[in-house]
Amino acid sequence: MCGIVGYVGGERTLGVLMGGLKRLEYRGYDSAGVAVLDPDGALGVRKKSGKLQVLADELAAHPIRDGATGIGHTRWATHGGPTDRNAHPQLGDDGRLALIHNGIIENFAELKQELLDRGAVFTSDTDSEVAALLVGEQYRETGDLTEALRRVVGRLHGAFTLLVVHSDAPGVVVGARRNSPLVIGLGEGENFLGSDVAAFVEHTRRAAEIGQDQIVTITADAVVVTDFDGVVVPMKEFDIAWDASAAEKGGWSSFMAKEISEEPEAVAKTLMGRVVDGRVLLPELDALGEDVLAGIDRITIIACGTAAYAGLVGKYAIEKWTRVPVEVALSHEFRYSDPILDGRTLVVSISQSGETMDTLMAVKYAGEQGAKTLSICNTQGSTIPRESDGVVYTHAGPEVAVASTKAFVAQITALYLFGLHLATVRGTLDDAGLAAQLAELQAVPGKLATVLENGPEIRQLARWMTDTQSVLFLGRHVGYPIALEGALKLKELAYIHAEGFAAGELKHGPIALIEPGQVVFVIVPSPRDAGGLQKKVLSNIQEIKARGARVIAIVEAGDVSVLPFVDEAIRIPLAAPLFEPLLAVAPLHIFGMELAAAKGLDVDQPRNLAKSVTVE
Ligand code: GLU
Repeated sequence: MCGIVGYVGGERTLGVLMGGLKRLEYRGYDSAGVAVLDPDGALGVRKKSGKLQVLADELAAHPIRDGATGIGHTRWATHGGPTDRNAHPQLGDDGRLALIHNGIIENFAELKQELLDRGAVFTSDTDSEVAALLVGEQYRETGDLTEALRRVVGRLHGAFTLLVVHSDAPGVVVGARRNSPLVIGLGEGENFLGSDVAAFVEHTRRAAEIGQDQIVTITADAVVVTDFDGVVVPMKEFDIAWDASAAEKGGWSSFMAKEISEEPEAVAKTLMGRVVDGRVLLPELDALGEDVLAGIDRITIIACGTAAYAGLVGKYAIEKWTRVPVEVALSHEFRYSDPILDGRTLVVSISQSGETMDTLMAVKYAGEQGAKTLSICNTQGSTIPRESDGVVYTHAGPEVAVASTKAFVAQITALYLFGLHLATVRGTLDDAGLAAQLAELQAVPGKLATVLENGPEIRQLARWMTDTQSVLFLGRHVGYPIALEGALKLKELAYIHAEGFAAGELKHGPIALIEPGQVVFVIVPSPRDAGGLQKKVLSNIQEIKARGARVIAIVEAGDVSVLPFVDEAIRIPLAAPLFEPLLAVAPLHIFGMELAAAKGLDVDQPRNLAKSVTVE
């Protein structure tokens, strides 16, 4: 859940580490720390609770000498509160070894007891310190940092990325990973390690993946990857597809504001090169194996949070186009529910980071049970695609704000492309049907750009609602997951109690919440929807209006039937019903962001959250 960076090269380590941590801060931001080996082999360590700026201030007030080797960490606490002493690096071997850790060492209590029995002294409440002390012990025995780490990782249960440096080993950083992320950045006369490529993209665009249960040793001129048994394994190199400026704010007030503005582009780029001559081209799916798509009899989509809502939207479309039953499950519930899986089940996982631990565990489990696995992911070189049979990348570009926005529309786009491809393979959509859906999909970026023009109006709405304690969201069919997403954004960003409901469910309970002045957002289906859903939603609006609700409707431009019954209307362009979610969600993203901003909150780094949830 934290951000990790390691560097060996020129004597500019502090700058590299702090720059990398800045780009990784979205991953965790309750404390931060660095350890740098100075040219005399002394280890300089600074660590502070609070955001990265607190560490930067500490380094300014109490500088350490720069050197050519170092590691840095931003923490999202799991074991022990966010205090200075619990911040990483944690130290071993009498302060001569520094270690940073991402993840959880599940058997830390028994290892700690063992160390205590040997007389070890603990200075933090973290699980990570046991690893620092154990590697320190092994270093004293072996005098070899890679070997010392190798001996320890076999004893650790749980998920970890570990990086270590030792004052007797200048010019060396050793890393190990099991189920937590780590990628290598390959430079000229310098090398990098990072939780993701953002850690070093401003220095190099050449990177390499590290597999599970592998150890990497970097020096300025060499990178060696071995498995936990010490056998050298080849690295898979790749070029980073985006440059450092893509991960900058570029003049926007927040990353979130920038990322919402990029929603049209996120859809357009995810479509790019994938719709050719009226057909969907997804050669990535070939990796699933021949005839797999023709043979599956069930799809299970697994994801968490916003990605799970993208999955719910996808379910409606994929079932409609392919007639294959689609179930959507939260990864953590799915994994431990003894799910029914076989070779005819396709498990589609969705994760922006490709590191979501709950989803990763579910993907692995599904693969072990014989299911085919496909991932929808936004991050090259990440773990979930590696663990899946196939991957369809979303091309939303780096998403830095912790609460997801542009990745959501890109995920729906990828699911739709997949659904249309599957429909073609299975012959459930004729050419005319396919062409109509593709035309709708390709029109989304342009329409979404016009939705964003509502920004100032939505900001106004948000400003008069800063004292609001509770907001409800209603939708039907594909509007239902959008209601859930609208509510989640408000919780995450503005810390307001918010709930999304299927509008038809209202009368089965939630309507009891309606009292005069209760704000309710309603996603109104198009009046052209063949199922007549719009009329049903209009009835729901009447029911809540009759009880004093203040209704803000998201409605199709030109649909005047709703206007007499609502207090405010936010307009979205005409689209076929299945494509409305891609347009209706942006106003809710803007609303959550603007309300949080109006309350003076940090929209990019909401409290208690971290971007990629790499603990279970
Ligand atoms: N479990 C460790 C701690 O609580 C690491 C958490 C992280 O991944 O940031 O310090």
